[in-house]
Amino acid sequence: MEFIDTHAHLTDEAYNEDLIATIERAKSAGVAKIITLGDTVENSAASLTFSQKHSGIFAGVCVHPETAATWDEDSVEKLYELAKSEKVAGIGEIGLDYYWEKDEDKRELQRKIFVEQLNLAKELNLPACVHDREAHGDTLKILKNEVKGVRGVCHCFSGSYEMAVELFKIGFYIGVDGPVTFKNAAKLPEILAKSPKDRVLLETDSPYLSPAPMRGKRNEPANIPYIAAKLAEIWSVSVEEVAEITTSNAKRLYEKIA
Ligand SMILES: [Zn+2]
Repeated sequence: MEFIDTHAHLTDEAYNEDLIATIERAKSAGVAKIITLGDTVENSAASLTFSQKHSGIFAGVCVHPETAATWDEDSVEKLYELAKSEKVAGIGEIGLDYYWEKDEDKRELQRKIFVEQLNLAKELNLPACVHDREAHGDTLKILKNEVKGVRGVCHCFSGSYEMAVELFKIGFYIGVDGPVTFKNAAKLPEILAKSPKDRVLLETDSPYLSPAPMRGKRNEPANIPYIAAKLAEIWSVSVEEVAEITTSNAKRLYEKIA
């Protein structure tokens, strides 16, 4: 059985003490590949360097909406140079975070750099990993109308089924993380039950969003099987089938990791 954690932050200081052991635990849990995402140009470079030293680790490069203030006129060029590496699987996570950002001017900056980075993904023919927190309308509007033709994943999907359908229509996937295992997972299990199985990816968002039995603790890629088990329950299939389906989905979207 082979899993892929399509979304983690291995360069986070939460792993300063035991990063190598964390990767070993992931491998023991069947997580054969991990995509680690940066959040600034500098951290994206660090993520790439780390991925180049370890087999099975790939990087995502970007300026995250929460660090939009670090964006400058050279950022897109620097990301372009990084993204040419065979170890960069995608551009991300990019997008909009209206939960943490209430200021309208700063939200405008988020939209601007989201569009610029989507254009970068398009130019390099790389998938985009999209972060959308309480910004469903604008996220969908940008993906459908402003930068068309980029494929990608809406990571830690928190929208409605109707939004998921719109995303599937434009070639997008949805990412499922620890919150699906929470008692208050709301409509997410229902949405996943109705979604095409070939459009769902597993991810941990480590060190955040630990699944139910580990809730409140630091998350890590080795926890992927908890999320897979919940998805197996929702889909009424075996965990082995979830592994097979989601791994082939991840390789289809993120071609460089295949
Ligand atoms: Zn993340």
